[in-house]
Amino acid sequence: MTDPRLSELARQLPALKLSTDPGDLEHHGRDWTRRWAPAPLAIAWPSSIEDVQGVVRWANAHGVGIVPSGGRTGLSGGAVAAHGELVVSLDRMNRVLAFDPIDRILTVQPGIALEAVQNAAQEQGLLYPVSFAARGSCQIGGNIATNAGGIRVIRYGNTRQWVAGLKVVTGTGELLDLNRGLIKNASGYDLRHLVIGSEGTLGIVVEATLTLTSPPPASQVMLLAVPAMDALMKVFAEARHRLRLEAFEFFTDRALHHVLAHGAQRPFDDTHPFYVVTEFDAADEQAEADALAFFGLCMDEGWVADGAIAANEAQAAALWRLREGITESLAPHKPYKNDVSVRISAVPAFMAEMEALLAEGYPHFDVVWFGHIGDGNLHINVLKPTDLDNATFVAQCEHVTALLVDTLARHGGSISAEHGIGLVKKPWLGSVRSDAEIALMRGIKAVWDPRGIMNPGKLL
Ligand SMILES: Cc1cc2nc3c(=O)[nH]c(=O)nc-3n(C[C@H](O)[C@H](O)[C@H](O)COP(=O)(O)OP(=O)(O)OC[C@H]3O[C@@H](n4cnc5c(N)ncnc54)[C@H](O)[C@@H]3O)c2cc1C
Repeated sequence: MTDPRLSELARQLPALKLSTDPGDLEHHGRDWTRRWAPAPLAIAWPSSIEDVQGVVRWANAHGVGIVPSGGRTGLSGGAVAAHGELVVSLDRMNRVLAFDPIDRILTVQPGIALEAVQNAAQEQGLLYPVSFAARGSCQIGGNIATNAGGIRVIRYGNTRQWVAGLKVVTGTGELLDLNRGLIKNASGYDLRHLVIGSEGTLGIVVEATLTLTSPPPASQVMLLAVPAMDALMKVFAEARHRLRLEAFEFFTDRALHHVLAHGAQRPFDDTHPFYVVTEFDAADEQAEADALAFFGLCMDEGWVADGAIAANEAQAAALWRLREGITESLAPHKPYKNDVSVRISAVPAFMAEMEALLAEGYPHFDVVWFGHIGDGNLHINVLKPTDLDNATFVAQCEHVTALLVDTLARHGGSISAEHGIGLVKKPWLGSVRSDAEIALMRGIKAVWDPRGIMNPGKLL
């Protein structure tokens, strides 16, 4: 280590793994956004809470910014280190620490992958229900820091709902043990909920206690081809009325086009403007009959033009791949992502306005829609034409985002449903939060992190 500050850190914390290798700096200095050139000071891999505290105290002493880093699957630039920060990767703190069968809680280190949490729950005959396509590489610490949502929010809610306790190292290096797995704890401000969704700006999550639940009964997966946008909400209303839904996801023909180009199987001979993948309980014959009745009604009403129901797990996985493969299939096109939400009741009017706005704003761009229609969250991805440089492309997209923000405001929506503000949506925070709210957020940050070392420049 040629930097004397790093030599001191290495001396103070001999168990800490540190690297200034250019490959590590490049790899750990960015997330999925790929918009900013990584330029961290170094990467640190603590293996204990004490080392995390030591790193934070060292950073305070030297005024070095810290970027907490999980699986770096984030889509808002939250884990980007572009200004000489120390990246604190939680990769080595990745174990299950305890399971309590009476409380049905699982205690884990922050660097454990979401999928490993799901598997650990399954080994106990239980379910950790938050799920989405990045489950193999995103980490529970990152999920908590972004309050991740995913494909089953309609049934189970966001990550926040499943966090029963948190250990957090604040921006001063203090260790907080928040809520300790209690179901009831009416003892003042619930600081746990401040940390959830705080994008690494208040402290580092170093341990999480997660609530598990009973697995759902057997389910069925159905793919529906929908001829028009206004039919989508009718199909959703009917599905919610007749079936016990676990997921209700939609995507457009353009989204399907990209997933197919990425190796997925074409589901229907004809193409259709919209598709829905839905999963619902199908424990008995009555539930299966309800599903068929739902499908028959949608066909009779003309809301659905075609459909397929998975007959086994492999077919279910193939149908899910059409939806879950979208983000990965778009990545090579450097998409400009909008991750917006409105109340479910506002979705039809919002989508109609958005469709017109995007057709006018992006006449020459490939615009791909998909999302979690059952919870009002729409993902609008604008793909970069190959002949356009990144800066011009982003500038053009931000021009349209300004219009999008106005439309969202009229519908009472949010510019970030589940990806977080990070760097990508920072210019638009004021469209969702009032000046008074932002002032309070800054005040809270100043108390937790007086020297402003925690993920500087993100969110606020
Ligand atoms: C294919 C794909 C599909 C996706 N689908 C969804 C989806 O359906 N729903 C959804 O919500 N998201 C989705 N995402 C986005 C992303 O996976 C989530 O935001 C995820 O929660 C990020 O976790 P991570 O470990 O990768 O965090 P990172 O990207 O490493 O970090 C995200 C933020 O959390 C902070 N952070 C990380 N670890 C800690 C910690 N221990 N303590 C404090 N702060 C920390 C970082 O500083 C950063 O601000 C998807 C991403 C991909 C690539």
